[in-house]
Amino acid sequence: MKQKSRILLIYTGGTIGMMKDFKTGALRAFDFDKLLMRIPELSHLDCEIDTYSFEEPLDSSNMDPGHWVRIATLIEGCYQQYDGFVVLHGSDTMSYSASALSFMLENLAKPVIFTGSQLPIGDLRTDAKENLITAIEMAALKKNGRSVIREVGLYFEFKLYRGNRTTKINAEHFEAFASLNFPPLAESGVHLKVNHQNLLDPGRKKLKVHKHMDNRIALMKLFPGFSPEVAAAILLNPAVRAVILETYGAGNAPTTPWFTNLVAEAINQGKHIVNVTQCSGGSVMMGHYETSSHLKKLGVINGKDITTEAAVTKLMYLLGNEVGAKVFKTIFETSLRGEMV
Ligand code: ASP
Repeated sequence: MKQKSRILLIYTGGTIGMMKDFKTGALRAFDFDKLLMRIPELSHLDCEIDTYSFEEPLDSSNMDPGHWVRIATLIEGCYQQYDGFVVLHGSDTMSYSASALSFMLENLAKPVIFTGSQLPIGDLRTDAKENLITAIEMAALKKNGRSVIREVGLYFEFKLYRGNRTTKINAEHFEAFASLNFPPLAESGVHLKVNHQNLLDPGRKKLKVHKHMDNRIALMKLFPGFSPEVAAAILLNPAVRAVILETYGAGNAPTTPWFTNLVAEAINQGKHIVNVTQCSGGSVMMGHYETSSHLKKLGVINGKDITTEAAVTKLMYLLGNEVGAKVFKTIFETSLRGEMV
């Protein structure tokens, strides 16, 4: 007889489990058990579902690396007992958390699927039920006794994406996420369609959980008129070990001497500088224009087509693992979990 999949549903917070406080009109989290009572459909799914809830569910604006460690530790502790994990999470920082967990869970061979919703589960027009039910169905998919999805995914509005390829693009539409540089892993229509050619194959190595995330990093989005003083305060700040430069287009930045000198000085100080485009899609191509050749010469790290969310969490992960200065650039420029080409 076919064994039912066992899924652990982890509720961290977010709109999906919130209700309106009628006095103030603000949304606040409510009891997770009540959340489940609102979705009797869950009992019709062909899998066993256990639940775990943060005792104080969070609006995801309050997520931090400590919470990621908590989720990773929870998954590590019961990895053998479950076939898959579904993490309910606010949509605002979901792409950061999904990216972080993808790096923290090395050799992951089971699905960890993040989902949430734009409207609370109790709302008449809610998108929460479809997102939750299909995320569980995707996590429960098995073939020849193995999970079909063996990576960190993000399911929202009929599409399962690779988590570390996603960005939240809309605060209003149900289609809140995009993965502009990588196609969906699976799609939900009349049938669930898995795009097998897009899935990661982690092999059969043992799960390794990394729990040190170093947050001494900064993100510097360029704009015309950036002040040299502000740039210096970021790039030369002794509290900062690495800076992500969000550059224009294909990785372009000003060629003015003050900017070039500051980047050079930061690199001299041993800081890692990463070039990521501020475009939502496409890739950094260092050296393609004169306005990026100077960065290439200085030894700036090429972020290629990585999202800012994945770049932030990959930096935290590599710094947390004390990756050596000599190999840092090469490792950052290598795809570790399918986050870049
Ligand atoms: N502010 C909420 C959060 O990210 C929005 C959501 O749940 O989608 O927690």
